[in-house]
Amino acid sequence: MSEVVVPSLLPREGGLTKRRLLLKVSGEALMGDDHFGISAPVVDRLAVEIQQARTADIELGIVIGGGNIFRGLSAAENGLDRVAADQMGMLATVMNALAMQTALERLGEQTRVLSAIPMDTICEPYIKRRAMRHLEKGRTVIFAAGTGNPFFTTDTAAVLRAVETGCDLILKGTGVDGVYDSDPRRNPDARRYDTLSQTEALAQNLRVMDSAALAVARDNGLPIRVFNLSGAGAVAAAVRGTGVGTTVTPD
Ligand code: UDP
Repeated sequence: MSEVVVPSLLPREGGLTKRRLLLKVSGEALMGDDHFGISAPVVDRLAVEIQQARTADIELGIVIGGGNIFRGLSAAENGLDRVAADQMGMLATVMNALAMQTALERLGEQTRVLSAIPMDTICEPYIKRRAMRHLEKGRTVIFAAGTGNPFFTTDTAAVLRAVETGCDLILKGTGVDGVYDSDPRRNPDARRYDTLSQTEALAQNLRVMDSAALAVARDNGLPIRVFNLSGAGAVAAAVRGTGVGTTVTPD
């Protein structure tokens, strides 16, 4: 077990000390055993996990990818214009955000979807100050449509939003329980890091996040905790700083 190092405990409204966290979930985590799309039971389970992880001292933002529906790069390789393909990918993240919002709201959670691509009749536009206000009021903010720009990923969007809104830590939920020095599915001797510096992760091309995302995290002193999303209580354990995982620290 390794403890998450939380760099700062920020005083918030009412003198409470709160931690502001950003949870990044890949779109594929919403597929379950399917090969495509959104599995309602899987989204419901994840929503329960997120609700259980929420305590009074946590402010939570979420970024969900879109890879379960559409990946710009793959579509571009098949002949689609890359910019249009990436825009379609970003729209896919809005679908996932809406699915998560409805699942959380069914559980009684207050949520807001803020989209980097304005779509007034569906959700609010992303405005930093608005996001901060929602977070301070204890609403779960789901940041949708990535960065709003093609050629980026939702990992970069997660880091960007976390830095912009002053998050203490990114929790990256994945299918493996941390960062390894080689692929644990192929190499039985692969070693999991408890902690790892972002510079080292970049230098060794360890796939914590894409390099643009890692560079922004490193330049802004934002730690990333990589943990396995599956398994009951995984999100709550990651939020509490317990459980298995790798903390990828800024230098
Ligand atoms: N995307 C983009 N700009 C962004 C974020 C995402 O163009 O800022 C597009 C890109 O085409 C990407 C797709 O949205 O393939 C889905 O995002 P991502 O691959 O990051 O999702 P994940 O792998 O986390 O499910």
